[in-house]
Amino acid sequence: MTTRQAGRDLDTSKAHSARMYDYFLGGKDHFEIDKEAALVAAKAHPGLYITARENRAFMHRATHALAQEHGIRQWLDIGTGIPTEPNLHQVAQSVVPEARVVYADNDPLVLKYAERLMRSTTQGRTAYVEADAKDPDALMNAVQDAGVLDFDQPIALSLNALMHFITDPHDPYGIVGRLLESLPAGSALAMTHCTPDFDPETWNNVAEVYTKSGSPVQFRTQSDVRRFFDGLDLIEPGIICCHRWRATEETTLTDAQISLWAGVAIKR
Ligand code: SAH
Repeated sequence: MTTRQAGRDLDTSKAHSARMYDYFLGGKDHFEIDKEAALVAAKAHPGLYITARENRAFMHRATHALAQEHGIRQWLDIGTGIPTEPNLHQVAQSVVPEARVVYADNDPLVLKYAERLMRSTTQGRTAYVEADAKDPDALMNAVQDAGVLDFDQPIALSLNALMHFITDPHDPYGIVGRLLESLPAGSALAMTHCTPDFDPETWNNVAEVYTKSGSPVQFRTQSDVRRFFDGLDLIEPGIICCHRWRATEETTLTDAQISLWAGVAIKR
């Protein structure tokens, strides 16, 4: 078990995306200000609760696929969020007990609950680092210092519902490129990303609420999301709405309701 101590106090003066997301998932680890912002966002799109749930369900299916079909044994999950059972390592270790997972997030509240992310199997290992994806070199150094991942073996980079918090001036494509650069061939990228493609009015309103509440977001089109996967081999079924990605049951949910592009790809 490895944790880095929070270097700063919790900022409860403004809403935080991790805590708003916790509210949408029915968690208890948020403050009044986060709930208020989440309720304003839910006014713009009442289905945000379902979007959050479907986003988690995609993580489960993508983790299974990578473990079972692509032999992945290690994950680096950036933008982890407040722990929600089952967390990624629990999903991975249910398939591969020796799976190793490093989590990273920049919200101090996530660090506060990070010990929930450390309940690893005895065969596997987990670690948590507090780091900002906007500084990928520092993030990767912290991940390497945690000593849990073997960088000579494939690692799946999991960026679920993260990159829409990195607006274009922060060079999101450069960040993902830099993160992937450190990973060996056979590694993977799994990602979900909010989009205005299906219902621009609603999702532009949601983006505005997030931005006004202190978490600037940039929702992207399918072709912009595809750029994150440039040079990688997308696995079936490519980039589609997350609730349809290898869905195990019929769904009545529409793409407009969910509005999260999802894809998984392998690095050659
Ligand atoms: N990946 C989880 C949680 C998504 S919520 C899931 O899919 O269920 C988005 C998370 O990204 C939040 O926890 C937020 O704190 C984190 N985040 C946002 N910007 C970040 C950044 N620049 N660096 C690291 N984490 C960030």
